[in-house]
Amino acid sequence: MPELPEVQALVEFLRGRTQGLVVTGVELGSISVLKTFTPPPQALVGAPVDDVARHGKFIDLDCGGTHLVFHLARAGWLRWSDAMPATVLRPGKSPIALRLRFDDSSGFDLTEAGTKKRLAAYVVHDPLTVPGVASLGPDPMADDFTLEHFATIVSGHRMQVKGLLRDQSIIAGVGNAYSDEVLHVAKLSPFALAATLKDEDVERLYTALRGTLARAVAAASGKPAKELKDAKRAGMRVHGRTGETCPECGDVVREVSFADSSLQYCATCQTGGKPLADRRTSKFLK
Ligand SMILES: [Zn+2]
Repeated sequence: MPELPEVQALVEFLRGRTQGLVVTGVELGSISVLKTFTPPPQALVGAPVDDVARHGKFIDLDCGGTHLVFHLARAGWLRWSDAMPATVLRPGKSPIALRLRFDDSSGFDLTEAGTKKRLAAYVVHDPLTVPGVASLGPDPMADDFTLEHFATIVSGHRMQVKGLLRDQSIIAGVGNAYSDEVLHVAKLSPFALAATLKDEDVERLYTALRGTLARAVAAASGKPAKELKDAKRAGMRVHGRTGETCPECGDVVREVSFADSSLQYCATCQTGGKPLADRRTSKFLK
């Protein structure tokens, strides 16, 4: 799933490509992808793309005051084409959820692999009427996201720091992958309780959060949409690297289940050498 750095790069990519273009078509490959009824998607047709913005992991195309807002979810992606196929997309079993066309024959498809369809698109006059956008926490890359601000957020939550980092209503834009990376850089256990972190831990976490995201944004910036997925994967230190070697200490990267998925970490760097117990399994065995 694209997170803040990839979504930011997609936004910049789209902003560059769609400048001065007019929407000439919206087609749905899946009816369920569209979460709004009014205005209808056809309200976008004929409108110029005025701006492209990011809200957390949401992308927002402002087309003459009507906004197409979408969220790529776990298996979703954006596929840009300078010359879109002429055939009209019809609702069916296509992995293409939504297609947008512009007046120079370019356009993009929002695709989603797999059977769980979570990709969501909204056509609205105000992006803040999208529930997932309205409930977003602060953007960690914003200028006013200071250490003091972050420390207040952390001390106010008695939850595992891994969960805090990827909760969109607490901090916007970080998901499963970058939260693993940030915790590895900060040398903190993903299971540590946020509210009990020492001041120096919070400061290290803040620096790791901003630094990791800034590096990833810089690495993704300017890359075409189709290269972003591989670039994200290549930049990961521990996330998705179970069984590989920790680049810091040479220990093996381990995996443990967390919420609805799994996380990766280094025991030597993050948990005092002690592997984390798989709580789902241990609960089951009791
Ligand atoms: Zn390590």
